[in-house]
Amino acid sequence: MAYFLDIDGTLVEFRDTPSRVHLAAARRRALAKLSQRAGGAVAIVSGRAIAEIDRILPGTHFPAAGQHGAERRDAAGRYSRVAMPGSAVVRVRDRIAAAVARHPGLLLEDKSCSFALHYRRAPRLAGYAHRLMRAQLPRLGSGWMVQRGKRVVELKPAGRDKGMAVLAFMSEEPFCGRTPVFIGDDVTDEFGFATVNSLGGVSVKVGAGATAAAIRVRDVRAVWEWLARGGALPQGTRTRRRSA
Ligand SMILES: [Mg+2]
Repeated sequence: MAYFLDIDGTLVEFRDTPSRVHLAAARRRALAKLSQRAGGAVAIVSGRAIAEIDRILPGTHFPAAGQHGAERRDAAGRYSRVAMPGSAVVRVRDRIAAAVARHPGLLLEDKSCSFALHYRRAPRLAGYAHRLMRAQLPRLGSGWMVQRGKRVVELKPAGRDKGMAVLAFMSEEPFCGRTPVFIGDDVTDEFGFATVNSLGGVSVKVGAGATAAAIRVRDVRAVWEWLARGGALPQGTRTRRRSA
């Protein structure tokens, strides 16, 4: 097996402030053990920047795809990412930051290649947050897209997603030749589910919601119970798979 794991809502519960998320040492050890058993074929595939992934998993340097695939670190530690944003993007970021300053409860996360606007602390501002981000698209030109998530809306480079990140890993050691398992909880993970489905792998959705994943597990705790059992196929209910 090769494992592709999302972080928020999959390995950790959501927090109002994403930068406050931590992973207990025992759980970090469990991940390291899984990686050892899988010959290093465990990658983190998150909307977070890789620097943030490393903060949550200190000292591990897992292969990782950050910002929904906009940046990637392979198993050999080689790092790649989309081109750095230009001046139009900086102006858009400043515009969003100014709007956020006028709306307490909104939180702008600048991830260098992408921006996330979190409204977890102010759910009533959901509509405003989505309108604000959508309104920036014409200013950014082509090559950008809006990515929805759980109480977050993001602007990110188009043409990169979690599924493409999985494909890139699967063409490299130590992932190639293994059966991919992708576990995630949010709409951005659907790209990963579709990819592992097409590769004959195992797609696992955490929690409720329509999905292309084959298996559903209840919550973060169920993911860890599965990891503790050694990462064999998760016990979960078969989903009524949404057609892709
Ligand atoms: Mg997630």
